[in-house]
This record gives sequence, C-alpha cells and structure tokens, in this order.
Amino acid sequence: MRVFLDNAATTPMSEEVIQAMLPIMREDYGNPSSIHACGRKVRAKIEECRKIVANYIGASIGEIFFTSGGTESNNMALKCAVRDLAVKRIISDPLEHHCVLHSLESLQREGIQVDLVRVDERGRIDYDHLEELLANSDKKTMVSLMHANNEIGTKQDLVRISNICQEHNALFHSDTVQTMGHFPINVDETKISFLSGSAHKFHGPKGVGFVYINSENLLKPFIEGGAQERNMRGGTENVIGIVGLAKAFQLSCDNMAERQAHIEELRSYMKKQLTEKFEDIQFNGDHDGDYLYTVLSTSFPPSPKAALLLLSLDIAGISASGGSACSSGAEKGSHVLAAINAKPERKTIRFSFSHYNTKEDIDFLIEKLKTLTPMKAMVTA
Ligand code: PLP
Repeated sequence: MRVFLDNAATTPMSEEVIQAMLPIMREDYGNPSSIHACGRKVRAKIEECRKIVANYIGASIGEIFFTSGGTESNNMALKCAVRDLAVKRIISDPLEHHCVLHSLESLQREGIQVDLVRVDERGRIDYDHLEELLANSDKKTMVSLMHANNEIGTKQDLVRISNICQEHNALFHSDTVQTMGHFPINVDETKISFLSGSAHKFHGPKGVGFVYINSENLLKPFIEGGAQERNMRGGTENVIGIVGLAKAFQLSCDNMAERQAHIEELRSYMKKQLTEKFEDIQFNGDHDGDYLYTVLSTSFPPSPKAALLLLSLDIAGISASGGSACSSGAEKGSHVLAAINAKPERKTIRFSFSHYNTKEDIDFLIEKLKTLTPMKAMVTA
C-alpha cells in the first residue's frame, strides 16, 4: 500500500481529465496555428478552455494566457511588470516560492529595489509594515505576495492586500498556485494585476498553467516567436495540457465545497490523532487560523529517529515532504521554516491532502508513526 500525502507538490490526475485529453492526442492533433480545418478545430478548443478558466475567476478571456506552469507565470508577471510597466520597486515577503524569490534576486541585480514585508512566527504578513513600506515610496511599485504558502499553509487576505495596494496606487501580483481551484478567486470583485495557476496542483497535467493579466497592464511578449497566445508567448501551444487544465479547473471549481469539506474532515481527524497519541506534536503556520486546508505542516520533537523520519515514512509506504518538494533532495534547510524561526532541532514534515485521500490513509499513517516518534504514555483510569 502507498499513501500519497504530498498533494502540495503535485496531485494525481483525475480520470475525467485523462479522458478529456485522449481525443486531443488521438484525433485533434492539428496545429492550432494552421488555417485548415484540423488547425481551426484545435484553435477553437483552446479558446473554449480560455473561456472556462476566465469565467471561473471572473476575468475576461483576453486576460488569460496559457503558460508552462506556475514558475513561468510568476516569472512573466514579475519580469514583464518591470520591463513594460516601469515598475522600479517590488515589495514581497521572505516566504515566497523560489520562482518568485529567485526572480526578485535577478531583478535586484538589475537595479530594482526589493523590500520584504515582515512576517510573524505563523507566517502571517504584517499589514502595518506593508502600509508603511508603501507609504514611503516615490517609485512605481508592485506588491508580490503569495495567497497561501506551499510549505506551511498560511493564507493571506487577498482582499485586504488588494485594498491596500489600490490606496497606494501599487500593482499587485499574487502567486495563487496553491489556492487556484481550492478557494474561490474572483478578479471582478478583487482588483489584482497578476495571478498564476498551475494545472498539476488541481488534478490536471504537469507542465501547463496560466497567468491572469489585468487588461489595464499592456505587456510585450515574454517568449518571443510566433503570434501564439495573442503574441504574448511564442511557441506551439500545449493543447493536450491546456485541455487537461481546463477540465481539471472546471471539476475543481464545481466540486470545491464538497472537496474542501472532505479534506477539512481528514485534516482535523489527523491533527486530533497526532496530538492525542504522540508526544509534543506541534503544527507550523496559521494551522487553526487562516490556512490552506490541503496542507498540515507537522513539527515532530527531536528524537533519534526524527532525523530520518521522512525516509522512514517513505519506506513504510507514505509519500510526504520535508518542507517544499522543490528543494527536497538538496537537503538544504527550508527558507520558509527559517523565516518563521522554526526550531531547527525539530523535524518538520509537510503532509498535504487531496479529495482522493481517505480516513484509512490517515489511520495507516498513524499506525506507521507509532514506531517512528515517541508516543504518549497510556492514560489509565
Ligand atoms: N508557486 C507555488 C506556491 C508552488 O507551490 C509551486 C509549485 O510547487 C510553484 C509556484 C511552481 O509551479 P510549477 O510547478 O507549475 O512551476
């Protein structure tokens, strides 16, 4: 038996998504740029997909561009805002995904001012500090703050940040890779300049995503080539991926409430089991406040077995993650845990869920943990 509790790294594709993609591989293989019937049919499919994505987030179809995923979408938003919108300063935070942080580092080398908002020990941004930073600026500024953190699950208030940005006339980019398809997001109600989405985080295929660009922001192409994506991203479109993305997004949005309820139930069952049965279990992030319900970042007490816990779980048939999957394997400490001052002697395992997980999965994990981390002494009546 293998239990997959690493859904913040990636999610299994749903069967409906696979079924939606098969005809594109088998029959509708035309190049969407071809003007003959085969091409036109595929072009129409892409536009249908764009409409699906746009409708669910309250955008217009001209504001959605398909990309290779979250990394590209975030790179595009940050780098194009600097290049094409005269942004000279970016305010972000130390908990961002590496695709944002490393983009900021490269922009900083080109002379862009980067300031980081303070975060507390739960990873919540300091809104007063954000206002203070915005008040002290005569440069064209963009705020880039992720909606929910992929490692610790802390969620920020998009509406509040959007209001602050509007008051200070700043652009607002949010990395919504972990929340797209998991929380309602509506750009018609909440003014945001750029958003990102990645299909493999909501049961779609890997290597395809989208960026929402508010139509007020006129950008030049990010990848130069043909006229694809209305001139914004050259290269023959990943039609199979785009069709899978749209189907997966539709299913995620249509079933959001039921999926959330199921996952919340598993998550609180797991929290209860962990705290009742084991010694000194703690949780990172805003785990009982404003949180991403698919993530439970669990901090285990130091013990001889704790250092090898992730490996031991893997051997026992459980896939989880020690922080962010993007840096796992490199055995470099997590920048997120460092930024919230997590105690380095404790061992953090990120468990992350999807609606495919069951109570049996959690029971399996709890059973395996019994030999891997100190248990509480039995309470006798
Ligand atoms: N941003 C966040 C918050 C993520 O969790 C990830 C993936 O781990 C990404 C961006 C990158 O997305 P992609 O894998 O589609 O490049």
